[in-house]
Amino acid sequence: MQPVRVRFAPSPTGALHIGGVRTALYNYLLAKKTNGTMILRIEDTDQTRFVPGAEEYIMKSLEWVGIKIDEGVVQGGPHAPYRQSERKSIYKQYAQKLIDEGNAYYAFDTEEELEAMRNRLKATGSSNQQYSSITRMMMNNSLTLPEAEVKRKLESGDAYVIRLKVPDAEEIALTDLIRGEVKVHSEQIDDKVLMKSDGMPTYHLANVVDDYLMQITHVIRGEEWLPSAPLHVLLYRFLGWEKQMPQFAHLPLLLKPDGNGKLSKRDADKAGFPLFPYNWVDPTSGELSKGFQESGYLPDALINFLAFLGWNPGTEQEIFSMAELVSAFTVERIGKAGARFDILKAQWFNQQYLKAKSNDELAEFLLASLPAGSCTKEKAAKICGMLKERVTFTHDFATQAKFFFEAPAEYDQQVVSKKWNNDAVTVLTAYSQALASIQELTAEAAKTTLENVTTTLGIGSGKIMQALRVSITGAGSGPDLMIAMEILGSTEVVSRINRALSTLKKV
Ligand code: GLU
Repeated sequence: MQPVRVRFAPSPTGALHIGGVRTALYNYLLAKKTNGTMILRIEDTDQTRFVPGAEEYIMKSLEWVGIKIDEGVVQGGPHAPYRQSERKSIYKQYAQKLIDEGNAYYAFDTEEELEAMRNRLKATGSSNQQYSSITRMMMNNSLTLPEAEVKRKLESGDAYVIRLKVPDAEEIALTDLIRGEVKVHSEQIDDKVLMKSDGMPTYHLANVVDDYLMQITHVIRGEEWLPSAPLHVLLYRFLGWEKQMPQFAHLPLLLKPDGNGKLSKRDADKAGFPLFPYNWVDPTSGELSKGFQESGYLPDALINFLAFLGWNPGTEQEIFSMAELVSAFTVERIGKAGARFDILKAQWFNQQYLKAKSNDELAEFLLASLPAGSCTKEKAAKICGMLKERVTFTHDFATQAKFFFEAPAEYDQQVVSKKWNNDAVTVLTAYSQALASIQELTAEAAKTTLENVTTTLGIGSGKIMQALRVSITGAGSGPDLMIAMEILGSTEVVSRINRALSTLKKV
């Protein structure tokens, strides 16, 4: 079998949507599984849509999630350059071949003429107002104008485009690895622009030429490109490359969390979840697109989540490292049906991945949120160890560990009104005195001392537990209190209890 060569071919028009990351991932998994090659090609022929910083954003995002590129803009490779705007001179000869063989033509229509054509068709009630086999003969192009006139126009530098001449009445068929046989009647396809007079190709021509020249074996991309596939088939045929045509696999759509319709940035913004790997601020509008990274997700959890959006291993196993995904992945197990984007599932994966990390690794998330030197790595690891069953996001460590570094500025009023009573005050007064004589407070000692105090006073410890917690942490719930007390140390615990006793006494 021919070695697999796949490409991820984004256009640098803004932040890389998470659906794009999934496309890149499936390409990468197939490449790695087959010892093939993963190519990153930047499709920037539409200069009007070029957005500064977008290309860097794409590369940084792929790197963050662990998708490694074998050939690309940065890595180079045998088919360099990998940025289409730098390949401009390559495309011309192919456009010329299409013209010479009667499969493409020059069109000189102005924007106004195109508009007039559409309006005319609209007025006759036609639902199809495309530049096509039906309309092309009424327009200004090298099929309708005398040859000398065409020559004169080209020589005098009149603006033109090169359009594909789509055959009249033909069923164009292709086999998609996910969807099976796909057939489209040529009447549904318009005479797409392949090249503009400035010599810049459009997406369709550049994409097909590059896939051929770069010897791409599989085109794995989003479902939104399925309608373009028959057009690409025509180009392969007209350019004489049918035998080298890659296999196509069009990935299922990502659906809104409720499964109704295509997932959009609006849905994500409304529900407050991210849809991009990193935060992205649009350079013109200043609008923020929220990133998974800044929202506290781990890259391996995100990858695991994305892998399951449209693919499944056919077993019950859900947690897959990248290496495990590589060995389990097959294109055959990608589904046709749209994949519901369930952010709760992403959170669940994140929890699993956080839990699986060592305390030392987790300590880094906490330390990053603290002033340098304010906490030892050992203490941070201990705190993270006790919190790791309770966190969803990386920033949860900082939020939930706050009380270790700051005595409570206020106390949860609900807990206070329910639990701060005479029994609590009696027990906490005696407990604080007993703790003051302990130098090295362990969780065990904190517990037995509390038991001794409550037994002596004849007050059940269960009745005062929340009052104790609120005095130390300010909140009514949280991680194991005895371990928290051990980490805080007896001096701090005693001072916090005493402060609560004097502040809350009168309540
Ligand atoms: N440049 C296209 C995009 O931005 C690539 C489509 C394809 O993979 O053919 O999605």
